[in-house]
Amino acid sequence: MTRQYEHFINGKWATPAEGAYFESTNPATLEVLYAAARGSKADVDTAVRAARAAFENPLWRDLSQTKRGHLLRKLGDLVGEHAEELAQMETADNGKLLREMRGQLATLPEYLYYYAGLADKVQGSQIPTMNPAVLNYTQREPLGVVGAITPWNSPLTLTTSKLAPALAAGNTVVIKPSEYTSRTVLRLAELTVEAGFPDGVVNVVTGLGAEAGAALVDHPEIAKISFTGSTATGSAIAASAAARFIGCTLELGGKSPNIVFEDANISNAAMGVVAGIFAAAGQTCIAGSRVFAHRSVYDELLEKVSARAKSIVIGDPREDSTELGPLAFAAQQEKVGSYVELGVSEGAKVLTGGGRPEIDLPGYFYAPTVLTDVDNSMRVVREEIFGPVAAIMPFDSEEEVLRLANDTQYGLAAGVWTQNLARAHRMSRRLEAGTVWVNTYRAMSPMSPRQGFKNSGVGIEHGLESMHEYTRLKSVWINTDEGPVADPFVMRA
Ligand code: NAD
Repeated sequence: MTRQYEHFINGKWATPAEGAYFESTNPATLEVLYAAARGSKADVDTAVRAARAAFENPLWRDLSQTKRGHLLRKLGDLVGEHAEELAQMETADNGKLLREMRGQLATLPEYLYYYAGLADKVQGSQIPTMNPAVLNYTQREPLGVVGAITPWNSPLTLTTSKLAPALAAGNTVVIKPSEYTSRTVLRLAELTVEAGFPDGVVNVVTGLGAEAGAALVDHPEIAKISFTGSTATGSAIAASAAARFIGCTLELGGKSPNIVFEDANISNAAMGVVAGIFAAAGQTCIAGSRVFAHRSVYDELLEKVSARAKSIVIGDPREDSTELGPLAFAAQQEKVGSYVELGVSEGAKVLTGGGRPEIDLPGYFYAPTVLTDVDNSMRVVREEIFGPVAAIMPFDSEEEVLRLANDTQYGLAAGVWTQNLARAHRMSRRLEAGTVWVNTYRAMSPMSPRQGFKNSGVGIEHGLESMHEYTRLKSVWINTDEGPVADPFVMRA
């Protein structure tokens, strides 16, 4: 009998109003892991009402900013204590390497500690005005109930990136995790209660995007939506938010360029290219899926990247020796396969990979794939595949590669490999991407703000800047002159 998970609302487990559940499967073994509540509009309404009541509850509303920080610090400690359990669950749910999930879980407390520290640094200022007798100051207030909608690829890290600043700023939250990875977010919500957050401050409604997700976005009591996921869903969410004038932070898709110049250390660059596209089986928003190599080093880079791609150990993501696990679910595997077929029909050549590898496990595996004979006009180069597929192209000059790299609807990240300092700065300035890495790829920290440019997002996540995404600014004017208030119809001299 598989475990059945309910929603987590108002500090307790809550059975779904319609009594429906859906199953979650291990993508490596295809074993059914658990069933989770299939949330409906009614469940979302219950959760949002609980969150609104918690927002107005003096236990939360009147808690000092410093004490909010203490609760976040305690939550960080609890996440650290449960890191192994959470990492095991995430690997079983989405097929990412246990080594990687252990690494993510080891850093996750730092996200909570960072925002714990920021909780009492959120402040307004006193503004000089034309009349010294009038005191004008600003204060930053929480927004109310924040709706957080997250994907399956790094469920806890991406959820915590929203939850920590939202709570530090004094909001309450309803989370709708991905239907592929519900349970670690439920476990995190349980830990918030253990940490001492009042009931209703953190709620989770599980379910499908078009049902629970859409109901959360459209709920009239939601003050803001914070979403990480695909550009198509983000666009629908932005339209709904715009109709009600509520804010949204959107972290969306990418098709990031990873650029190797002739003056780079080519061995390092090859490792950066491999890490950029094959880590996490390419299922990362920041995947360096478009690789541009200067023509003079193109053959050497191709040789090194394809040799490493062929030697990547594919297997059970729980094994220490495994370097590449399965894709997260069947539709992902089909999508990756059909993009590679499309690329071939457009004229691409498959240098390595290009199908399911020979492997004993029944799961959704796809071999690390390198495509050549590709150019920027092909769909396989223009659209996000979200799998282990690199398109490698030669270029002749810095101006040309800048034009090619920026010729995309996305603007999430970019990599540059060069030993020329001036070129590194020139490229960083002119690349249209919210994050630029030079001689590294995939570096990330809760302290470092990041933003998707163009169709890759709206708003900022991480860093001090993301605190402001979860507050609104109020301007308060106080007349300190106790004399008579002037008749408004008598013109001042
Ligand atoms: P997705 O958009 O399909 O789903 C994301 C979340 O939105 C899920 O919880 C889903 O249930 C929900 N959802 C789906 N339709 C909805 C709707 N109509 N209304 C409300 N919610 C809805 O994305 P995914 O496949 O889960 O994730 C992969 C995508 O996420 C990729 O495009 C990837 O680039 C992007 N991503 C971006 C970042 C970033 O920081 N920029 C990080 C990770 C992933």
